[in-house]
Amino acid sequence: MNSNSHKPFWESKPLEQMTPEEWEALCDGCGRCCMQKLEDRKTGKVQYTWVACYLFDIEACCCTNYAERIRLVKGCSVLTPSRVREYRWLPKTCAYRLVAEGKTLYDWHPLVSRDRDSIHMSGISMKGRAISETHVHPEDVAYFAMEGRL
Ligand code: SF4
Ligand code: SF4
Repeated sequence: MNSNSHKPFWESKPLEQMTPEEWEALCDGCGRCCMQKLEDRKTGKVQYTWVACYLFDIEACCCTNYAERIRLVKGCSVLTPSRVREYRWLPKTCAYRLVAEGKTLYDWHPLVSRDRDSIHMSGISMKGRAISETHVHPEDVAYFAMEGRL
């Protein structure tokens, strides 16, 4: 018998084999990737900020135009398995990154907890904690840099 048969899809399938529904469900809804990032041109090191993309609804912790996001926001991109491995700036908690690295999802992931709010209760998400880029001058984004690495 296949030992993977009783495992949930995120433990039994590589990213490449997930269905579109499974792929979407894998996102934990943390909103971390929707924050502006600062890149050190010399070292390539990426630092997250508390400044959210203008399409990010801070209270709902989600994109307000997911279907049109690529057309509307220059820096937004569709995640694919190869991009997950390429984008070293993805948060270490990102479920796509965890699966790509062969790691298990955290207990607060909605797929594990079966509760959409557990991600917000855990303190991981950006819900209610960011500031919209519409309120920050582009030259001031660095003042909102987060300490440490997400
Ligand atoms: S960081 Fe990963 S898990 Fe979190 S919202 Fe972005 S894509 Fe989803
Ligand atoms: S367009 Fe939507 S998904 Fe893309 S960064 Fe902005 S809020 Fe996030």
